[in-house]
Amino acid sequence: MTFEPTREAGLARLAEFVPRAGRAYAAERNTDRGPGDRSNVSTLSPWVRHRLVTEREVVEAVLQRHSLDAAGKFVQEVYWRTYWKGWLELRPSVWARYSASVAPALDSLSAADRATYDDAIAGRTGIEGFDDWARELVELGYLHNHARMWFASIWIFTLRLPWQLGADFFLRHLLDGDPASNTLSWRWVAGLQTVGKTYLATTQNIEFATEGRFSPRGLAESAPAVDDDGPIPAPGPAPRPEPLPRGRVGLLLHEDDLHSESLELAGLEVVAVASPTAGEPRSPAADPANALVAGFTAAALADGRARAGAHFGADASALDRLTASAIRDWASSYDLTAIVTPYGPVGPVRDRLDQLERELSDDLTLTRILRPWDALAWPHATRGFFPFREKIPALLREQQIGP
Ligand SMILES: Cc1cc2nc3c(=O)[nH]c(=O)nc-3n(C[C@H](O)[C@H](O)[C@H](O)COP(=O)(O)OP(=O)(O)OC[C@H]3O[C@@H](n4cnc5c(N)ncnc54)[C@H](O)[C@@H]3O)c2cc1C
Repeated sequence: MTFEPTREAGLARLAEFVPRAGRAYAAERNTDRGPGDRSNVSTLSPWVRHRLVTEREVVEAVLQRHSLDAAGKFVQEVYWRTYWKGWLELRPSVWARYSASVAPALDSLSAADRATYDDAIAGRTGIEGFDDWARELVELGYLHNHARMWFASIWIFTLRLPWQLGADFFLRHLLDGDPASNTLSWRWVAGLQTVGKTYLATTQNIEFATEGRFSPRGLAESAPAVDDDGPIPAPGPAPRPEPLPRGRVGLLLHEDDLHSESLELAGLEVVAVASPTAGEPRSPAADPANALVAGFTAAALADGRARAGAHFGADASALDRLTASAIRDWASSYDLTAIVTPYGPVGPVRDRLDQLERELSDDLTLTRILRPWDALAWPHATRGFFPFREKIPALLREQQIGP
């Protein structure tokens, strides 16, 4: 299984998967047959995470082939991503608290816990399956959803390590590493997300869902909820689309949305395109050795930049760093009066865009383009996934997706 960081490769994977997205997916998706056979899931997440292929395109392609009844489970899984992103968007302080907690959690490990942590991330705890998933993650940058759940559960309840350090390990190594899906899934396993409800990995379930590949012994038999993160904040307002600027406009791309061809930019004349050469650091405990994620993200940025340049008939520049001075230099060389950029959801890209907006002068505006997919769905992420799920048919109708 390989992940080529281009839109073309993502679309090819989508086309190959579409026939299997109906009832076969619903029946078989929970089985983890190992990295040699991923035919029961889409493995689209690295492309979707960077919007090399958008959620809308994935759902549209699937619903052209299957009814919503047959492909309901798959469509719902794509909407889990949208839900998590909306949930965090309405409660950005949960991300801020998590990011601020990683470095202190690492620093305050006891010597014994530090040794356990080092063993866990190196895949040498002696726990069958867990060690294999740690190595699989580092080598391939992808894990099956169930392996992620088992791994997180064993990390928290058997090894008794801080959930934040496990989330950080995933975020650094997953090609699809996503601030919302990752942080909130780890919180869900730990019992912080649905308060008091935890996920306990059992030998029996692992044996069954790996078709006997793994049968780990000595797993925790109970999963008392973690309680280290204060109350869940009330949801704030969802972002709304901003009016488009006038004048000579530059398009600034970033790693969270690399299909600018489908952004709603009606009437704008984009005279220049730019994107950074590298993604934002994902972790305060940055791991410079993680070449896999860095390489995927950099190549995805280059792919998005080249396509945008061709689409808008504009020069496409690679910026070494996403700093205000680099942006000002780029803007002045094309006489830009305004910059537009895809909306950056809560996470490192958003933090960078906020900083840029503060530092750029008033004569160079930065307008974030929100997609209808997000603008329509995120306001519904106020409660749990089940009330959100009820909205899916209406959300699809509003966007004229499906029959
Ligand atoms: C502890 C933990 C950490 C996770 N971290 C991430 C992460 O950093 N990034 C990430 O994209 N997903 C994350 N997930 C969710 C899920 O495991 C992956 O999205 C999924 O395994 C990706 O594989 P796939 O593309 O083959 O999924 P498929 O089953 O083919 O699903 C199709 C698409 O739907 C979305 N999706 C599916 N399941 C979920 C889910 N449970 N939550 C959110 N979106 C989902 C993904 O975009 C995926 O590409 C995490 C889950 C857990 C339990």
